[in-house]
Amino acid sequence: MGDTEVLADVVKVAIAVPLSQVFDYLPIGELSAYQTGCRVLVSFARRKVVGVVVGHGQPSVAISKVKSVEQLLDTAPLVPKDIVELIQWAAGYYHHPLGEAWATALPVALRRAEFKAPKEPVVYRPTKAGAEDCSTLLKRAPAQAGLLAFLSESPLPRSAAECRLHDTGWSAPMKQLIAKELVETVRSGLPAELARDRVKHSPELNSEQSSAASAIRKNLHHFYAQLLYGVTGSGKTEVYIDAARPVIEAGKQVLILLPEIGLTPQLLSRIQSALACRVELSHSGLNDSERFLAWQAARKGEATVLIGTRSAVFTPMPQLGLIVVDEEHDGSLKQQDGFRYHARDLALVRARASNIPVVLASATPSLESLHNAAKGQLELHKLNKRAGAAKGPGLSLLDSRSAHTENGVSGELLGRMNEVLARGEQVIIFINRRGFAPVLMCEACGSMTDCNHCDAHMTIHARSRSLRCHHCGASRSIPRACLHCESTDLLHVGVGTERVDEYLTEKFPDYQVLRIDRDTTSRKGELQRHLAMAASGEAQILVGTQMLAKGHDFPNVTLVGILDADQGLFSADFRSIEQMGQLIVQVAGRAGRAEKPGHVIVQSRSPDHPLLQTLLQEGYGPFTDHLLTERKDALWPPYVHIALLRSDSAVAGEARAFLQQVKEWLSASGSEHIKQITIMGPADAPMERLGGRHRAQLLLMSASRKPLHQLLATMRPALEKNPAARKIRWSLDVDPHDML
Ligand code: ADP
Ligand code: ZN
Ligand code: ZN
Repeated sequence: MGDTEVLADVVKVAIAVPLSQVFDYLPIGELSAYQTGCRVLVSFARRKVVGVVVGHGQPSVAISKVKSVEQLLDTAPLVPKDIVELIQWAAGYYHHPLGEAWATALPVALRRAEFKAPKEPVVYRPTKAGAEDCSTLLKRAPAQAGLLAFLSESPLPRSAAECRLHDTGWSAPMKQLIAKELVETVRSGLPAELARDRVKHSPELNSEQSSAASAIRKNLHHFYAQLLYGVTGSGKTEVYIDAARPVIEAGKQVLILLPEIGLTPQLLSRIQSALACRVELSHSGLNDSERFLAWQAARKGEATVLIGTRSAVFTPMPQLGLIVVDEEHDGSLKQQDGFRYHARDLALVRARASNIPVVLASATPSLESLHNAAKGQLELHKLNKRAGAAKGPGLSLLDSRSAHTENGVSGELLGRMNEVLARGEQVIIFINRRGFAPVLMCEACGSMTDCNHCDAHMTIHARSRSLRCHHCGASRSIPRACLHCESTDLLHVGVGTERVDEYLTEKFPDYQVLRIDRDTTSRKGELQRHLAMAASGEAQILVGTQMLAKGHDFPNVTLVGILDADQGLFSADFRSIEQMGQLIVQVAGRAGRAEKPGHVIVQSRSPDHPLLQTLLQEGYGPFTDHLLTERKDALWPPYVHIALLRSDSAVAGEARAFLQQVKEWLSASGSEHIKQITIMGPADAPMERLGGRHRAQLLLMSASRKPLHQLLATMRPALEKNPAARKIRWSLDVDPHDML
């Protein structure tokens, strides 16, 4: 009897399609060869696709209808059990199809059946001659000199990917350096012996840093979730580097997650020189092969440290001993489309399952983490002082309604800039809006130029002479006359980075202005090049968007001007004030990092706003205390658990009607969980029309997590089968980062 059942067993395969179910296939050969975590090639909807084996079992349809696997692609599972379980857990928690979760978790290259693992590429290091002072020799070859200096900074050889981040045109100067025998190539993947005696000594930790580091060091052998809350420049990185040392000495691995690829090269150099071990990077700036190789090195235990963005949380690391999530408050750690997971939250889940410590670090922790620290779920380590000799910046708040401003810049700020620049120091002007001006308005009739596809004004981009929608990307030329009344008196209302750049260039002809925003750094390697120009002092005035706010270290910046601090105060989103506060504190933190004291000028059109006052006068701590109280009173996360069902359609009203149907269906379902859940909406999204689609959302909210998740667990498969739901686009977002 048992025999027939065994014969009928099929392989359960997860396939990257938006359906929660897994699919049955008959094995060719031994069923036991189909281990969970092996890839298979199968035919699905008349295509050949790569799926992942997630188990065995009885077929869910008649066995005669089950197709055979085309090919078993791996002889052993690609990922170990802990990662299989993490992916499974995440797909369950976010109520997302398992196949898509797998597709996110594995390197893209592995989704192709014909993918052949590339050879480990060579890496580059200076020869003995190259390690000497070559400045005279390379006087006329600045690109070579720069590249050689970049190689010399690191105790370990550098990869092509790192060199490319340093300089997109790296390959010609590298050939020259090799021809001159100043640089040699070695095979990558070699261990720490490669480190020459160039290991830089880390600064001696101050007493706050030491006590945080020793608290982390005391708890390296079990699950221990910690929040390292230290003001900008307090030396958080040095703390976790110090805590990582014994982990690495014990032969274990360290995973460091970051929100942004722009931050990885800087951290890579620091970690490599402090720990002298093999460090791999994983981020979207790498090509598929490079990403695969980093993943492979971590998975084989050859890479000791992996620094990566979001999806690196799924990387197999057999010896994993510590996870760090830096800038844990940053929204980019949550994926905003497809499989909407939060890398910080999954890092906590992974650390618990692996019984290892995890450190969340930030100068401006999220309200979630502060709340968890208050509840004792995160152990709090605080760093209140800046490290070394650096002093915290002085702050002044300027009323930009009455103060005289020209192109968004007040006279007082200009005066301060003059002083600072004359002393040979640098200035950051922060404005969270790119382009020249956000609105083109007709002076005669008051009409504004709006996007045809979105509920949004089009931004003026003067240099490219175009109007662009920052939401859908639509673009057209700037009209000469008003489309309504034909008047030619068109006003450029408001300011963006381009306008401030232009104005300051004219105002300070003796200084170099550098603009850092998405428009000037869209090409690969440009962000790195811009940041290097800023760090070297080649440019003295840095004008930028939030790209400038994120953890970069510019020790010579002593003045920061924030032009539009209050943008976040009046947004429709529950998280926007929190984000505004984080941004202001992070930008302000760029001032006065070294021995020189810094100053921050915050221009605001609502300087009396109590939350802004609290933030600037009392600091981030009291500011978040207020916000937490507000969230508690208004029943928002972290005091309640929410999920958002979004829908959009080309036809007005359709998405809303669909969500209304879902709501009625949920209410009528008689589910016992429904009583514990508040359903709000359906409502139009804050920007109802985006890219020509009409958007609506339904908010599900519950004081405890369980009933909400039980409801979602039945809702998702029901929606997948529902004929109305199949005709319309919808998505589910658990713990949404924003409601926009
Ligand atoms: P954070 O991550 O908290 O912003 P970092 O770790 O980047 O701070 O440190 C900021 C700066 O202070 C870096 O240039 C770092 O080298 C320096 N630094 C950190 N700790 C010390 C220390 N104990 N003594 C001297 N300088 C330090
Ligand atoms: Zn007009
Ligand atoms: Zn648009």
